[in-house]
Order: sequence, then C-alpha cells, then structure tokens
Amino acid sequence: MDYYSSHINRLIEQFSRLPGIGAKSAQRLAFHILNMPKEQVETFARTISEARDHVRYCRDCCTLTDQELCPICSNPSRDHQTIMVVENTRDLAAYEKTGKYEGVYHVLHGAISPMLGIGPDDIRLKELMQRLSRDPVKEVIIATNSSLEGETTAMYLSRLIKPTGIRVSRIASGVPVGGDLEYIDEVTLLRALDGRTDL
Ligand code: ZN
Repeated sequence: MDYYSSHINRLIEQFSRLPGIGAKSAQRLAFHILNMPKEQVETFARTISEARDHVRYCRDCCTLTDQELCPICSNPSRDHQTIMVVENTRDLAAYEKTGKYEGVYHVLHGAISPMLGIGPDDIRLKELMQRLSRDPVKEVIIATNSSLEGETTAMYLSRLIKPTGIRVSRIASGVPVGGDLEYIDEVTLLRALDGRTDL
C-alpha cells in the first residue's frame, strides 16, 4: 500500500484492528474520515477518547457505566435478589429491551474457552462470587450463550454456586445453538427466561 501516504496507512491500520473490519472496510472508513469536515472529525475523536476515559465497570454488576453504580443496580424497584448472569453488556441490553425482566444482572465480560485459553480468572467470576457471599441472593439465572463456551461457563458456574444453597437456573434453549443473545428477538428471549430450568 505504498501509494498511500503514511498517515493514511496508519489510519487504515487502526480501523482494521476493530472487530469485524476487514482490509476493504478499513480503507473505506479511513477515506470517509478524511473526507469529513475537520470539526466533525475532531468531535468524533474527542467522543471516543472521552467515552474511554469516563466509562468504567459498575461496582456491583460489572456492566459498563459512567457512575459507580449503574442505573439498574441503583434502582430500588428492581429485584436485587435475582441475578441474571450474561456474557456481555450487549446481552444485558437485549434483555433490558424486553422490559419484562425485573431482577438485576452480572456481566462476565466473556466466557470460559479452553480453546482460546480463557479461564475462569479471565472473566468477572470472582466478582460474582463475592457478590453472592455478601448480598442476600435467592436465584442466579445463567443466561450465557448456547455456544460451547457459554455452556462450559454455565456448567462451571452452577458447580460453583450450588454448594451455597442459592437456586441456580439456566435459560431454556429455543435460543439457537451458537446464537448470540443480542441477535435474538424479544419473544424468544422471554420464552427462554420463562422456561428456565433448575441446574
Ligand atoms: Zn450495575
């Protein structure tokens, strides 16, 4: 790509590091940015940088938020004795969109994957166990994806939580195997929640 200036090459390289962006898309985005008005580019760059500076993990559920406690954890009308465990903040958003789930969440930020070398210490499991020993929790609903990693994580979690006497359940299948929660429609999500079974 020597026919581009090094600045353009560097911009293309930055874009190509993003998930789901191949070489062609990276070039398209880079040239789009270069054709944008200067102020718009500055606002864009500032927004990225400020989001990174201000967003942190919620003290209780580990979701991404800009306060110590996220709006869900700080809401007294939510059922704080029911915790739904999800793999990421996008899955939490999917269940929130249904507007029918009244409990709170715990976001793992990943799933156990021996193949990718991701172990229990690499996701926010310790934080969940600390929370369970601290707060009066009645039920943990495991809503990890139905991929191999999601199932592995669900098994591991249930073995860890069961001895504490807290009820552990798993959302029903109906969620297609390998399907990410965020792409599934609300009716299916709610059916999976209603049809959950004890582990
Ligand atoms: Zn929270």
